[in-house]
Amino acid sequence: MNNDKIWLSSPHMGGSEQKFVQEAFDANWVAPLGPNVTGLEQDLEQYLKSDVFVGALSSGTAAIHLGLILLGVKAGDEVICQSMTFSASANPIMYQGATPIFIDSELDTWNMCPKALEAAIRDRISKGKKPKAIIPVHLYGTPYKIEEIRAVADAYEIPILEDSAEALGSRYKGKMCGTFGDIGVLSFNGNKIITTSGGGAIVTSTKALKDRAVFFSTQSRDNAPHYQHSEIGYNYRMSNICAGIGRGQMEVLDKHVDLRRQMRAFYVDIFAEIEGVSVFSTPNEDYFSNYWLSAILVDSNRTNGKTREDFRLFMEQFNIETRPLWKPMHLQPIFAEYPYYGESVSEELFNNGLCLPSGSNLSENEKSRLKSAIITFFKA
Ligand SMILES: *Cc1c(COP(=O)(O)O)cnc(C)c1O
Repeated sequence: MNNDKIWLSSPHMGGSEQKFVQEAFDANWVAPLGPNVTGLEQDLEQYLKSDVFVGALSSGTAAIHLGLILLGVKAGDEVICQSMTFSASANPIMYQGATPIFIDSELDTWNMCPKALEAAIRDRISKGKKPKAIIPVHLYGTPYKIEEIRAVADAYEIPILEDSAEALGSRYKGKMCGTFGDIGVLSFNGNKIITTSGGGAIVTSTKALKDRAVFFSTQSRDNAPHYQHSEIGYNYRMSNICAGIGRGQMEVLDKHVDLRRQMRAFYVDIFAEIEGVSVFSTPNEDYFSNYWLSAILVDSNRTNGKTREDFRLFMEQFNIETRPLWKPMHLQPIFAEYPYYGESVSEELFNNGLCLPSGSNLSENEKSRLKSAIITFFKA
């Protein structure tokens, strides 16, 4: 058996990506605009099914930044953000000179706790400022508590910027993730469910909002023959080359979702026989997760003292990449000074949780290496 590195999540090409890229070269559309950019946007609009408009951008982070700008977030404002997430959910709040307010997770979905959210909003209002936006995240592809979070947001009339970077292909009650927020965000980074090598998209409910995002993403050029600017611009548009990769990837998106879900089922089978380890599951049938990453919780009281960290180090010896869950933002040195609302749910998830190799391209050989490493560690 070979011992090549098994990655957590690696790019998986479908086959026609190079054809779209070749077309871009043939027509000399080697620029941040062109038929692939428009084509990818249309593919995504069709895929998401709702009446939404999609703007292709250079990254998911850029989409969050422009989303905050579209929602009118300015210096000195407060923006609520799920604490357990990747730092890219929160960094754009800082780009705007605004203040992040972090919220704990709940145990059903590992995402933003609606109760802690409401407590935070009430407290911020009582201190004199109503938050300008709420950023909940569908971690590892599992939808956050869509209805509960929406109810709180509506009660206080605060818009939702939905971070769906990990959840393309996930659904709640049949409706696609990315379409629940006032604005939605997708990512096509190299490790995501589909990739454009690097890229992202903003999802809006009106054409006017999409046009506005595209305007900002192409340096905010006024309508004039010379370069004229009345607003600050950004260079955030997606390249036509990257969009070509994206068009090829759209053809295999549903297949990749299926394969990721099979990877999780593979782990469910293995861990069914192992005491003290649970594989993360959606709370009920309303939730359909793309299971971008399969994640487990290790309860060392029931594993003869074996911890998440022992397991991670063991897997590393076998050249298998695993990763602790996202370290909550309120525990990050750079964000430590900002307000946090909740208990210690996200902290405990971080301490005991681990993401396992979840790619849609893992071979049978790699799967048997994974299985025997897991069994060796927990059964020894
Ligand atoms: C990947 C990711 C992002 C950022 O997307 P990029 O395309 O890498 O900029 C934002 N939020 C979450 C939750 C992510 O996982």
